[in-house]
Amino acid sequence: MSNVLKDAYNRPIRDLRVSLTDRCNFRCFYCLPHGEPPIAPKDQMLSYEEIAYVCEIFVALGIEKIRLTGGEPMMRRDIETIIGKLSQLKLSDKLQLVDEINNQKPQGLQDLALTTNGYFLPDRAQSLKDAGLDRITISLDSLKRDVFKRMTGVDVLDRVLTGIDAARKADLKPIKINAVIVRGHNEDEVADFAAFAREHDVKMRFIEFMPLDSGHDWSRADVVSGREIRERINARFPLEPIDVPRGSETSSRYRFVDGAPGEIGIIAPVTEPFCGACSRIRLTADGQIRTCLFSTVEHSLRDVLRSGASREEIVDYIKAVVLKKEPRHFINDPGFVAPSRTMSFIGG
Ligand code: SAM
Ligand code: SF4
Repeated sequence: MSNVLKDAYNRPIRDLRVSLTDRCNFRCFYCLPHGEPPIAPKDQMLSYEEIAYVCEIFVALGIEKIRLTGGEPMMRRDIETIIGKLSQLKLSDKLQLVDEINNQKPQGLQDLALTTNGYFLPDRAQSLKDAGLDRITISLDSLKRDVFKRMTGVDVLDRVLTGIDAARKADLKPIKINAVIVRGHNEDEVADFAAFAREHDVKMRFIEFMPLDSGHDWSRADVVSGREIRERINARFPLEPIDVPRGSETSSRYRFVDGAPGEIGIIAPVTEPFCGACSRIRLTADGQIRTCLFSTVEHSLRDVLRSGASREEIVDYIKAVVLKKEPRHFINDPGFVAPSRTMSFIGG
């Protein structure tokens, strides 16, 4: 097990989120509410070759899951190209042996996933699958056209629903649907989303609103707690916990007591933090490693990479950065300071 990256609190790091771009065609008010944001200059963005190179090293060091995100990752040209390159990391013989590091053969990437707003899926779901994507998470904040438009800034609910169908037809399973629940916007739709999960046999994941909006308008009063979400669903569709060890998963998982298809996941980082088992690390589109969503510092893997560092030097750099991973987030502490880069620039 020596090729598992571990932080200073002995948490194994198995899960890498890679942001492909900080651009987005939506303006979700809880993420990127205003106008044209300052995006990273093109020469600072990691190329697909650079992303593939560092991901191979991460996988050799024990990363098992890679999730592509953004911004809107499908805005990056030819996303199928990078999916194709990363899917090769599932074949352990494509990985450079890490003998020189620790004499162990890495087992290879186990899971390649994508989080998207769904806009481009009607035409592209099959090409993602063909390129080697395993599964997909699609954001969907409302089932009502007017609320969807108010929350995302775009009037495209039907298109996203068509995208979900296209993902199903392309067998990008299990399909997960993310909804950020915000007071005064969509908390009255929580049970309707549960009905949607039952009807369409998807994993519906409800996310508490976090202070990561670029407008810095987050307020605790707007957070709908995981507990309230559970109670709202239970009142219409009784739930029971799925009895599997949660491990490093972000969500607590439930099934319907009546045996209906679909699943409920509740991600409650504000009211029920799960930092103690966190296995995640992030790479921004401009090549910065972030050890926590709420980190106030970043580590420039891009600079190391472009300085001509050897593979061993990059390995040492990544290991040293992982040791700096924060013990937990500080959202609930007095004096909490939100990170200067917000969700769409970090990669959610
Ligand atoms: N654009 C893609 C999408 O929307 O799915 C991927 C990137 S987005 C940043 C990833 C996830 O973060 C989405 O499910 C989004 O709803 C969630 N998110 C964004 N801002 C958030 C916030 N302030 N609090 C909680 N979740 C947030
Ligand atoms: Fe774009 Fe996703 Fe942020 Fe919405 S949540 S603005 S779709 S990056």
